[in-house]
Amino acid sequence: MKLQFFNTLGRQKQVFEAIAPHKAGMYTCGQTVYDYPHIGNMRTYLFEDFLKRILMYNSYEVTHIMNITDVGHLVSDADEGEDKMEKGSARTGKSVWEIADYYTKAFIDDVKLLNIIPATKYTKATDYIKEQIDMIKCLEDKGFTYITSDGVYFDTSKLSDYGKLAQIDVEGLEEGKRIEFSAEKRNKTDFALWKFSPKDTKRQMEWKSPWGIGFPGWHIECSAMSRKFLGDTFDIHCGGIDHIPIHHTNEIAQSEACTGKPFAHYWLHGAFLEEDDGKMSKSKGEFLCLKTLTDKGYSPLDYRYMCLGTHYRKRLLFSWDVLDSAKNSFNRLKQNIIRMKEENAPGKSGEQDRVNLYKSDFLESVNDDLNMPQALAVTWEVVRNTGISDKNKLELIYDFDRVLGLELKKFVDESRRGQISWAEFEIPDAPIKQGIPSEVLELINKRAEAKAAKNFKLADELRNKVRELGYVIIDKKGGVEVKEIKN
Ligand code: AMP
Ligand code: ZN
Repeated sequence: MKLQFFNTLGRQKQVFEAIAPHKAGMYTCGQTVYDYPHIGNMRTYLFEDFLKRILMYNSYEVTHIMNITDVGHLVSDADEGEDKMEKGSARTGKSVWEIADYYTKAFIDDVKLLNIIPATKYTKATDYIKEQIDMIKCLEDKGFTYITSDGVYFDTSKLSDYGKLAQIDVEGLEEGKRIEFSAEKRNKTDFALWKFSPKDTKRQMEWKSPWGIGFPGWHIECSAMSRKFLGDTFDIHCGGIDHIPIHHTNEIAQSEACTGKPFAHYWLHGAFLEEDDGKMSKSKGEFLCLKTLTDKGYSPLDYRYMCLGTHYRKRLLFSWDVLDSAKNSFNRLKQNIIRMKEENAPGKSGEQDRVNLYKSDFLESVNDDLNMPQALAVTWEVVRNTGISDKNKLELIYDFDRVLGLELKKFVDESRRGQISWAEFEIPDAPIKQGIPSEVLELINKRAEAKAAKNFKLADELRNKVRELGYVIIDKKGGVEVKEIKN
């Protein structure tokens, strides 16, 4: 199957046709470095990593640019409120430059831990202020801007196809008057290209510009830096779905108004990781980071495995039960491959046909708009197939792992060298202890049923009820162990 993606621009699956043969230029919106990334952010970067690995698996040479937003991302998408970086600085008592440096490192650490292939280049917004000013000048020369008391704005009414990505009904917005906007903005959808520093306070990050001292609006960095490193038009642009209506819509407006050419050909957006009470977000104060998971004994790759299990365009509801079940399944995969022998064994009849079939099944899955759950299922079919020798199975699985990114070869090599005791992955069958109150047993059984029906929300609730009754459930191979909580 030819490689195809669901393109948000046009809302349909399309065969991927690269601008230059065997090359793919890809821009992904990166982290705003005022705090740790949460595991929702990392879900989006993981989906982009699957995409990049699939391109490489299809023999494309990928140039991947990711921005680091270290200035200008305001708390509100309506170009108002505090700058997220200055807010982070006030919270921690460090300078914005220190904050940016610290959280950029924290982000790159998580990238490494999750075995995400690093971008070809990470571009910091503050390193490319000149390019952003040049682009605003270009827009000004072409008549797309106007100046208000607080900045330079893009006039979206000057662009006939503004909002095409999000399929925004601009006229409807005008009539509905649902969105608050500053009195000086000509249209509700207009956005800041350059914001002036407040007259009475000195900002930590500010620059001179032809319009006055200030700082760039959030969207312009991506237009200016993608243009610098990938050209006026490039292949693929990605981010989370929240970027469709504002950030990506405005990137397209700026870039296409300035160059007069199409911006990116394919737009891919990842759905959100959510919690029971809605999307995971930093504005809620408390959020889950990768470290929260590793502190509880999960490995970063357990989380990667969990994300492989749900298609990137589907919402994923986080719960500890979903993560437990991913961890158990990943451990079983490792137990299985560690037992496979690398020596040549006598060939089994029809073996090569089976190997070829699995290869094409895997390629079909990943090429069909990143169907990673299906790709994982094919991997498991290989593990279970008795008509293929261990050596060929291992070769196939290592080949698939170029896309899955679970570091399976490294794991096997380390365990063969004795660096990993695989006994720790061997989970003994644990019979449920005697003397557990029937009320608790009933809840445990109900939870097992809920898990089998993939109703993880209910399973989580039942686990909590069991905890309230003084018992903790530990998932084990072939069942659960239940321990009484001792005070
Ligand atoms: P930000 O630093 O807020 O610009 O977010 C960085 C990336 O994470 C963007 O691509 C967002 O779309 C994405 N993102 C934010 N929240 C979530 C979430 N809960 N689940 C998945 N992706 C998210
Ligand atoms: Zn962006």
